[in-house]
Amino acid sequence: LQKDLEGLRNLPAETSDGHRIPLWVNTGLITDAVRSLERGAEGVGLYRTEVPFMMQDRFPSESEQQNIYRIQLETFAPAPVTMRTLDIGGDKALTYFPISEANPFLGWRGIRVTLDHPEIFLVQVRAMMKASEGLNNLRIMLPMITSVGEVDEALHLVYRAHAELLEDGYKIEMPQVGVMIEVPAAVYQIRDLGQRVDFLSVGSNDLTQYLLAVDRNNPRVADLYQAFHPAVLNALKMIADAASSIGKPVSVCGELAGNPLGAVLLMGMGYDMLSMNATNLPKVKSVIRGVSQQWAETLVDDVLRIDSAPVIASMVQLALEKAG
Ligand code: PEP
Ligand code: MG
Repeated sequence: LQKDLEGLRNLPAETSDGHRIPLWVNTGLITDAVRSLERGAEGVGLYRTEVPFMMQDRFPSESEQQNIYRIQLETFAPAPVTMRTLDIGGDKALTYFPISEANPFLGWRGIRVTLDHPEIFLVQVRAMMKASEGLNNLRIMLPMITSVGEVDEALHLVYRAHAELLEDGYKIEMPQVGVMIEVPAAVYQIRDLGQRVDFLSVGSNDLTQYLLAVDRNNPRVADLYQAFHPAVLNALKMIADAASSIGKPVSVCGELAGNPLGAVLLMGMGYDMLSMNATNLPKVKSVIRGVSQQWAETLVDDVLRIDSAPVIASMVQLALEKAG
């Protein structure tokens, strides 16, 4: 297995008919970063900044954050690192910033918290940008976006932080900024959201949870959390089509991208990049190398006509077995 992994590391994720789809990784801990490089990651599609925040007993200061972010950016440079602004609330708690609510997944989480606390947001994006000086491989991503107003407000803060740093003498390029598509409302606003930012990235974990009204962490309803539910797949196709119509790159950074069956479907739908746990990357790469883009597109056409998640899952599984 080790030998296979090494053999795969330097091969591109390319189909038999020459379609390239970059495979990036999701990180949080610094150990993830090292593992990712070993497995041939071409960039970081999602750095969950709440992970270092969760390991402290108070908010890390601007310079502490800068040091943490610098390690991520340096480890992958010149490859891009997509840093998501703090996504707390929901299932992610900070002991020193308790949030108590009846319905946390529908409550104060992600961008909702940081726009209510611009001081937290500003310190974070300043730390990210300072950390990127001389490397310029930073991308900033906004979680839990529901409305264009949130994007405008967040962009305003990012531009302000950038302008202030330039005034202070830092030489920092303006990072690319992107939006996560993980709330169903965002699926219907791809054009308006996409026109404001540089890239879009689908958080399929939350998108599935919210489309199906199934708590992603509740074992009692775990069998209702169907990644291949026809509604989820149709939404994913809609997003890819809408993004392509405005010429904005769109990727997936939820668990579906790291599932070989999910990955071939997403590739067939036209996603530009997939970001996943480093553990899954070699497997996904080897599956992609064993099929053609044409085959994946036909499979998507077939699958989108099916109305049942279990049937879809076994259909994709069978098709893949047949293909190789
Ligand atoms: C997602 O929701 O799919 C996602 C990538 O973010 P998280 O799992 O951190 O909520
Ligand atoms: Mg999410």
